[in-house]
Amino acid sequence: MADKFDVIVIGAGPGGYVAAIRAAQMGLKTACVEKWVNKEGKTVHGGTCLNVGCIPSKALLETSHKFVEARDHYAEIGIEVGEPKPNIEKMLAFKNSVINKNVGGISALFKANGVTAIDGTGKVVSSKEVEVTDHDGNSQTYSADNIVIAAGSVPVEIPPTPLTDDLIVTSTGALEFTEVPKRLGVIGAGVIGLELGSVWNRLGSEVTVLEAMDSFLPMVDTAVAKETQKLLKKQGLDIKLGARVTGSEVKDNEVVVKYADADGDQEMTFDKLIVCVGRRPYTKGVVADGVGVELDERGFIFVDDQCRTNVPGVYAIGDCVRGPMLAHKASEEGVMVADIIAGHKAEVNYDAIPSVIYTSPEVAWVGMTEQDAKAKGVEVKTGSFPFSANGRALANNAPEGMAKIIADAETDRILGVHIVSQHAGELIAQGVIAMEFGSSAEDLALTCYAHPSTSEAIHEAALAVDGHAIHMANRKKRK
Ligand code: FAD
Ligand code: NAD
Repeated sequence: MADKFDVIVIGAGPGGYVAAIRAAQMGLKTACVEKWVNKEGKTVHGGTCLNVGCIPSKALLETSHKFVEARDHYAEIGIEVGEPKPNIEKMLAFKNSVINKNVGGISALFKANGVTAIDGTGKVVSSKEVEVTDHDGNSQTYSADNIVIAAGSVPVEIPPTPLTDDLIVTSTGALEFTEVPKRLGVIGAGVIGLELGSVWNRLGSEVTVLEAMDSFLPMVDTAVAKETQKLLKKQGLDIKLGARVTGSEVKDNEVVVKYADADGDQEMTFDKLIVCVGRRPYTKGVVADGVGVELDERGFIFVDDQCRTNVPGVYAIGDCVRGPMLAHKASEEGVMVADIIAGHKAEVNYDAIPSVIYTSPEVAWVGMTEQDAKAKGVEVKTGSFPFSANGRALANNAPEGMAKIIADAETDRILGVHIVSQHAGELIAQGVIAMEFGSSAEDLALTCYAHPSTSEAIHEAALAVDGHAIHMANRKKRK
């Protein structure tokens, strides 16, 4: 038997590495096991988020956004740059350098905090033991008083579109295209489909998104979703709703996709196809059969509100358990579990987890939509404000979008904030903080905001909840 630890974490994604750092900060002897190796054969920390998810996709979203600004919008504001050309090789090199900096940062944080990094594949073999098989196939068993499973998720594959080496790919392949596909098909108008569809659309692809559902972004407030759909359409994304993919055929370096919509059977030909129809937990083989940790039929590990599995001392967090598959949700669960193991009280407020889609403009939301409230029979009042009436947004040459606040009709407590705008992903933090502190819409309305700032649109939306926005025709007379 090798070393004994207070905590062993399996997986070094944003759930696992944060749990490990926090546990070490709490004075617990902590190890983190990671199996991911990069193309150079080196073990890398950071999981999906840093290697093939949040960070690389945002690097490409930012570079492709800058390209569009230069191509389509600089001249409008008096900057003449001629005809810009994307250099995909350099964009990918930039993206890879961003990954490397982030990944290297985690290894440095492990060292600084005294987390023991163990390379290899971890398996829970008892409630107090983890067997690790290294990349050469050698196994060693480590014991721990507590085990945290943070094994993450992988893309869902669907029978009609089996993956190929480079024509039918998941998000991971779509972060590596070495040239701009002329015709790009995307299956799924979810978060990945819209983000990566936007990247390649901006760089010149004709993008068609096939979405099985009839509604667009049903988790977002309807008014904000409608505005987003309109803006993305204007940018050239052809989003076909109610289009169920039924089959595909690869021939002559092209993909023919068959789908059915309200008009019957259809067919489209693409140069590349991205399949982004969700992700599934990556839990197969992580726990030995006899240990008794319960999983559901889709492979999610059952946990309670504090991420405890049914086996005492074994916790599970992040994408491999219920809840939204988001890096910050995984990290918050990591902190909570480390604090609990260290003997503290801790919880995650699942009602105040923000979501962001990093299109341009960005879509961000927290809490209830107006349609959720209606479905639950909660009486609400709402206030909306367009960025076209915000001075800073106009000065930024980014007047698209709106902010909407949903408040309880009786108590005025903020129940949800929904935004589509430039930097909505930054603005949403105000809604999250307001909800964490149980603020009313009036609390925001009575707060002094810096001028000029796009945050003033949130202020105005809060004022609009009672019909008193300053820069909009008033609906009500103040009593
Ligand atoms: P992961 O990040 O998947 O990490 C799990 C780790 O565990 C991996 O490193 C894996 O190798 C390791 N592992 C698994 N099994 C074992 C084992 N048996 N032994 C050892 N190691 C093991 N979320 C956001 O919040 N914002 C975004 O902008 C965003 N963008 C995204 C873009 C894309 C293209 C994708 C694919 C995802 C994106 N996500 C985003 C989602 C986000 O990446 C995940 O929610 C997040 O990474 C989940 O963290 P995790 O720690 O639970 O799992
Ligand atoms: P998703 O669940 O967001 O969207 C998948 C979409 O595919 C859905 O709209 C679904 O109706 C559609 N779909 C499913 N099967 C289909 C079929 N056969 N034909 C056509 N459409 C079909 O999943 P995703 O976009 O793959 O993202 C996976 C996860 O990664 C999400 O849970 C998301 O939270 C996370 N993620 C987050 C971010 C972010 O926070 N900015 C970015 C990327 C990914």
